[in-house]
Amino acid sequence: MSEEEQQTTQPEEMEDGGEVETFAFQAEIAQLMSLIINTFYSNKEIFLRELISNSSDALDKIRYQSLTDPSVLESEKELKIEIIPSKDENTLTLRDTGIGMTKADLVNNLGTIAKSGTRSFMEALQAGADISMIGQFGVGFYSCYLVAESVRVITKHNDDEQYIWESSAGGSFTVQRDTGESIGRGTVVTLVMKEDQNEYVEEKRVKDVIKKHSQFIGYPISLRMMKERDQEITDDEAEDEEETPKKDGEDEEEAKKDDEPKIEEVEEDDEGDKKEEPKKKTKTIKEKYEDVQELNKTKPIWTRNPTDITQDEYGEFYKSLTNDWEEHLAVKHFSVEGQLEFRALLFVPKRAPFDLFENRKVKNNIKLYVRRVFIMENCEELIPEYLNFMKGVVDSEDLPLNISRETLQQSKILKVIRKNLVKRCLELFAELAEDTENYKKLYEQFSKNLKLGIHEDSQNRKKVAELLRYKTSTCGEEYSSLKEYVSRMKEGQTQIYYITGESVDQVSHSAFVERVRKSGFEVIYMVEPIDEYCVQQLKEYEGKTLISVTKEGLELPEGDDEKKKFEELKSKFEPLCKAMKDILDKKIEKVSVSGRLVTSPCCIVTSQYGWTANMERIMRAQALRDTSTMGYMAAKKHLELNPEHPIVESLRAKVESDKNDKSLKDLVMLLYETSLMSSGFSLDDPQTHANRIHRMIKLGLGIDDDSDVTGGDAPTEEMPPLEGEEDEDASRMEEVD
Ligand code: ADP
Repeated sequence: MSEEEQQTTQPEEMEDGGEVETFAFQAEIAQLMSLIINTFYSNKEIFLRELISNSSDALDKIRYQSLTDPSVLESEKELKIEIIPSKDENTLTLRDTGIGMTKADLVNNLGTIAKSGTRSFMEALQAGADISMIGQFGVGFYSCYLVAESVRVITKHNDDEQYIWESSAGGSFTVQRDTGESIGRGTVVTLVMKEDQNEYVEEKRVKDVIKKHSQFIGYPISLRMMKERDQEITDDEAEDEEETPKKDGEDEEEAKKDDEPKIEEVEEDDEGDKKEEPKKKTKTIKEKYEDVQELNKTKPIWTRNPTDITQDEYGEFYKSLTNDWEEHLAVKHFSVEGQLEFRALLFVPKRAPFDLFENRKVKNNIKLYVRRVFIMENCEELIPEYLNFMKGVVDSEDLPLNISRETLQQSKILKVIRKNLVKRCLELFAELAEDTENYKKLYEQFSKNLKLGIHEDSQNRKKVAELLRYKTSTCGEEYSSLKEYVSRMKEGQTQIYYITGESVDQVSHSAFVERVRKSGFEVIYMVEPIDEYCVQQLKEYEGKTLISVTKEGLELPEGDDEKKKFEELKSKFEPLCKAMKDILDKKIEKVSVSGRLVTSPCCIVTSQYGWTANMERIMRAQALRDTSTMGYMAAKKHLELNPEHPIVESLRAKVESDKNDKSLKDLVMLLYETSLMSSGFSLDDPQTHANRIHRMIKLGLGIDDDSDVTGGDAPTEEMPPLEGEEDEDASRMEEVD
């Protein structure tokens, strides 16, 4: 969207010289906002978690900058979050001393730049997701419209002036220079609450919500509220008090003018003993003061002893760390001591995020701390890509505080930490695998990652292989490990059989599987695209080679008699194989007789080292824009015939009687195209195939090919053999080739 489109009105001159610019929210964001405003949803309190989480992120950013350039903190030394409810104004204000936003940030981040999460979140909502999941989609800010009528954001970034952003939703927001009181650095978000949402200006409610959702935030969160209290003072003091109301705590800022105390006369007891010293007259006044309470005093959870931490605490910490709305699936909390020291807390989430493999984003969710100081998130050097779904924190004792992303890459310490984290993750998965049901949850979400691990992590390939699970021809709905498969192997079986394809349904009905199953062997079903890559790396398990049942050269263990019989068949069908190869020519590498088929007449297998049909399908999908590579990369196909099938047998007879039979070519082409499809390939030219089939149907119905629907001969009862057709018909079929 261009600048002109975003800006809906021309800037107006303000009285004080600042220009008010009005911008339209990006269309999807506007849609999201009205969804947030209009959806009936009771768990509105999560808005506070989202805003605090944004503040915490902004504080992380400035702290990270300060590690290499301490001067960035000069604008405001303390890193903190303040929550300021005001009953009088029905507002809730959040202030942080984070990095703040430049004007461009304000316009982009809070309204005009579309985020992939916006649409995904709306789709998720439609599919029954909960609004509280908003943080995961990167649009948490807008949750403030759950409770606020209008929102004002004042922000100051070190590199820019102070700006105000304001919006009451309705499709637009304004931005202007703020010439008012300076906030130093950071962001102040003020929510004007909807009338029915004034509970969020109540002390108790705010405290409860923060305790529930934000107790693990790594910066002090304080609640600042104006309160009143009674104070007894003498008349003399009263005069002073009237001028300057007291403030609580160390904060000695000048009190505001409207903090005037209310003074009430206190009734004096006139019947006292007159001889006594006359008492000084006292008064009770209502004193206004600012009450400041720190709300998150807990020390970082990972520094505590694991035995003292409850599962609930881990769950709460996990949620605050990740913005997840559900607790984690599993956790590992450990420390490493000795030459190198660090503590880590690693979580497996219950679900994969919506963008786990999107845009090849190499992003992880491990936060790096050095001696309790947050250094950075998504530290790529900490964990390999295949484990990018793991979340957690690592706190090193040894790294320097001012470490930058660049120096991290060379850090030996980090390499050791990384190795250790991988080891612990794999341990954690192995532990989880002991509980089949729970492991299934992990596996259904993250099997792709583990398979990527087989591909990426040669050092740990063996361990990761133990974690793989597949459906197989004998396991029904259950998953089987390779170990279990091996334990079920038949006597004399030396290989592990597998098939790759699009779905369990498709592969289980495949012709390739039939013979192997019929011979009593189990076949592993590999139905994810990544399985192709994974199995190429894996090659074997416990010394047993993994063999694709769709590739040439599949030999099932057989007795000598069977082998002899097969050799005979081979020579018997030699002429047919040759004739078919001549017809199919370049379409196929080889035609041979096979022992792998039971009920199908033929199938197409691929050469041992070439792509499978499934791989060809995957590559076609990936190479959409560049089909030039497909030619030489495409699977090398072999056509295998089932010598026991009547179709193959009669074709053989036909070749024997007349090699030049006119109908032979069409029959062979049809057979070839049909087995392409049943073997999982797609047809280059489906129309030609369709034409052939139509011709067959016409034949079957006894319709003369030249006649229209109403004409033609009466249908014959049986499907006439193709050679019944006249020669000209056969040649016409060739034309469409
Ligand atoms: P997310 O925080 O997940 O990116 P949000 O919608 O919550 O998504 O926020 C959008 C962006 O606005 C943030 O990425 C950040 O750049 C900016 N932002 C929001 N709140 C603050 C804040 N308190 N301080 C600085 N920047 C902020």
